[in-house]
Amino acid sequence: MDMFTPGYFCDAVEKGYIRPYYQPIYRSVTGRIIGAEALARWFDADGRMISPAEFIPQLESSGLIYELDMEILRQTCAFYQELEKRGTPVHTFSVNLSRLDFKHHDIFDRVASILARYDVPHESIKLEITESLMLEDIDHFRLIFDQFHKAGFTIWIDDFGSGYSSLNVLQNYSFDLMKFDMLFLRNFTARGRKMLSSLINMAKSLGIHTLAEGVETKEQQEFLLSAGCEALQGFLFSKPLPMGEMIDLIDREGNEKPADKSYWNQIGYLNLLSPDPLEDAVQKDEDRNYEQFPGRGNAIALLECRRNRADYVYVSSSYLDRVHELGYRDIDELEEVFNNHRSDQYLMMKKLTTDAIEKGTVQTVEYINNDVYYRVFAKCLARDGEKAMLAMRLSTFESDREAKTASEMLDYGNTLFSTYKLVVTMYPESDISKRLYTSLNIPPYDHEGVTNMERLEQFCRNEVDPIDQERYLRFMNFADMAERVDADPNHYLQSLFRMRWAGEDSRWHTARITRIPSSGERIYLLTVQGIKGKWTKWLDSASPDKLE
Ligand code: C2E
Ligand code: MG
Ligand code: MG
Repeated sequence: MDMFTPGYFCDAVEKGYIRPYYQPIYRSVTGRIIGAEALARWFDADGRMISPAEFIPQLESSGLIYELDMEILRQTCAFYQELEKRGTPVHTFSVNLSRLDFKHHDIFDRVASILARYDVPHESIKLEITESLMLEDIDHFRLIFDQFHKAGFTIWIDDFGSGYSSLNVLQNYSFDLMKFDMLFLRNFTARGRKMLSSLINMAKSLGIHTLAEGVETKEQQEFLLSAGCEALQGFLFSKPLPMGEMIDLIDREGNEKPADKSYWNQIGYLNLLSPDPLEDAVQKDEDRNYEQFPGRGNAIALLECRRNRADYVYVSSSYLDRVHELGYRDIDELEEVFNNHRSDQYLMMKKLTTDAIEKGTVQTVEYINNDVYYRVFAKCLARDGEKAMLAMRLSTFESDREAKTASEMLDYGNTLFSTYKLVVTMYPESDISKRLYTSLNIPPYDHEGVTNMERLEQFCRNEVDPIDQERYLRFMNFADMAERVDADPNHYLQSLFRMRWAGEDSRWHTARITRIPSSGERIYLLTVQGIKGKWTKWLDSASPDKLE
C-alpha cells in the first residue's frame, strides 16, 4: 500500500501518528538550553518509527509536504504554549520548511495564523531553510522573506556550507543564523576545522548568529567553543526527544532565562574579525532593524590564488562598487593589475595573499591608488594543493576627504588595529575566566585544579614581556576590577603591553577590559589586539607612566 496518499496522511495526522521530536539547542559558552529544533517523526500503527529520510522525499513528491510542515509547526506552537503555562517557557523553537512550501502563496498567512492561535510571538519561531532552496527564484524568495522579516520572524539557514554557492546565498538574503552542516564535523580534519572557523568568523562579520549541529564528541565541542560558535546541537548533548522527555530535560537542566538572552546574543555578535567588534556588537543590537540588515552590502569577494596567478571567482556587488571607486572599469582590469609583475600593486597583493595563506589569520594592507585610500582584507578559507581560496574584503575612502578628517580616520580604528589576538570572558565573583577565542598558537592555561591567579601568572610569565609583567598583573587584578571599571568614564579599562606569544619577538598590544551587561554576576570581556605601524615607535619611546 502506498502510505503517502492524502487520505492516509490525514488519517495519520488525526490519529496522532505524526509528531515532532525536539532536539535541544545549547548555548556553547554557558551550556544552557536556549531552544529546540522540531523534527518530524511518523509512527505506523505498530509504533514503528519511519525516518524523515524516507517520508520527506515521498511527501515532497506527492505534494503533501506543506501540510506536514504546517502540522509540525502547529504542534510545536501548542507545545510552546504548554511550556509557557507550566512556567518553564522555552523561547526559541525552530521548524524545518521545505522549498516547496514557498510555492504556496498563502504560506505567510498560514504560518502567522497558526502562531496567533497559540499566542506564540513571531520572534520565537525560527524558520529553517536549506541553502539550495534559495538559488532558484531569488526575487520570489526575497519577497516572501521580506514579508516574514517585516513581521518579526527570523530565518535560519540550515546545512550551511553543504553547497558550493553558499556565499551567493549570503549576498542575496538576510539571515539571523547559520547552521553548519555536520559534514564539517564528520571529517574533523585540520582543514575542516579551519574552514569552519573561517565561516564562523565570516558569519560574525556579517552580523549572523552561528550554530553547529551534529556535535558528537567533546573534542568537537571544545573546538567549536574556541572558534566562537555560539550554539550547539547534537547527540553529545541529546538526541531528539518526544515531548514528555523534553519536559523532563527542561525540569532537570533548566533553560536560559529570557533576561540573559539579549546579553548572550550580544556576545554572539562579537565579530572577531572586525577592528572594533565591541562597538559593532553594541550598535547592532540597538538598531536591529529588519529592513536594513547589517550584512547587506558587504564588499566581499572570493579570490582563488595559484602560484603565478590570482583569479576572482566571486565578487559581491558592493565589492564591485569599491573597485569602480578605485578607478577600474571592471574586475578583470583589476585582476590584470594584480597579476602584472611590473605593477606597483603586484608585490603588495602577493605579500598579502601569501601571508593570508600561510598564517591562516586575517591579513590586511592599506594603499593609495588614483587618490583613493583603500584597505584590503584577506582570509584563507580553504587550500587544495597549489591553490587556495581567499575571502577578500575591500574598503575605500577618498583620500582628500580623509586628509581633512584625520581624527575620524583614527576613530574608524582600521588604521591602528588589526585582528584580535585573544578574547576572554572573566567572572571575578566566581574567580574564573574562559577563553572565547584566540588566533594564536598558545596553550590553554586552564588546567583543572589551578586557581585563576595561578593561570594568570603562568600566562603572564610566558606571554607578556618581562618589562610589562607587573603592570599586566595589576591591570588584570580581579580584586579591584569592578572599582576601576566603575571609576572609568567610559566604563572600560585599556592599556598597552608588550606581548611575545610563545617565544616570538615582543610586540605592542592593546588590552581592553569591558563590562558586559548581565542580570546576574558581573562579567567582563578582555580583548587583546596587536598594534602596527608608526605607533609602535612612539610607544617604544614612551615612558611607562604614559601607558597607564
Ligand atoms: P536537519 O534539519 O538538518 O536535521 C538534523 C538531522 O540530524 C536530524 O535528523 C537529527 O536527528 C540529526 N542529528 C541531530 N544530532 C545529530 C548528531 O549528533 N549526529 C548525527 N549523525 N545526526 C544528528 P532527522 O530527524 O532524521 O531529519 C533529517 C532531515 O529531515 C532534517 O535535517 C530535515 O532536513 C528533514 N526534516 C525533519 N523534519 C522535517 C519537517 O518537519 N519538515 C521538513 N520539511 N523537513 C524535515
Ligand atoms: Mg534543520
Ligand atoms: Mg541540518
